Amino acid sequence: MSTRADCIFCKIVRGEAPSHRICEDERTIAFMDIFPVTDGHALVVTKDHFENLFEADEDALAAIARTSHRVAAAIRSELAPDGLMVFQLNGRAAGQTVFHYHMHLMPRASGEALALHTRVPGTPARLAEIASRLARALARVTAPPPTR
Ligand code: 5GP
Ligand code: ZN
Repeated sequence: MSTRADCIFCKIVRGEAPSHRICEDERTIAFMDIFPVTDGHALVVTKDHFENLFEADEDALAAIARTSHRVAAAIRSELAPDGLMVFQLNGRAAGQTVFHYHMHLMPRASGEALALHTRVPGTPARLAEIASRLARALARVTAPPPTR
């Protein structure tokens, strides 16, 4: 696995920095954004270090799409937002601030002003609560249908 010693998301992947984790699989990890623009703002990150879309390989992109799809379903099921913004920034000019490939999942309310970032940190208790609710919802939305 390619990893960078000084990258914050690599540190989260390696378990050296804390995060409010929602789920992980072989290639990806999902956790709460520590500066949530909206309640439930989550990130889906490759376990390998790629700076951006252009560096990431197709399997990593597919893995991010799969995990994003599942976490999106959990957000809809658990938080029922009016909408969900899914976006990904490449390069400083596009607003990228952490140079490790990742997808944003941002629940949105009708009429709310559009924003990509905030400097206001989430409260740890709220981030932890939402992460565990989404983890539980994930098991529910991805569980096979009950047999009769
Ligand atoms: P970008 O601007 O690169 O698309 O998004 C980076 C995101 O990472 C921002 O929304 C920022 O709030 C979030 N972020 C920065 N540092 C940390 C951190 O240490 N932990 C978590 N969970 N999120 C972070
Ligand atoms: Zn990294």
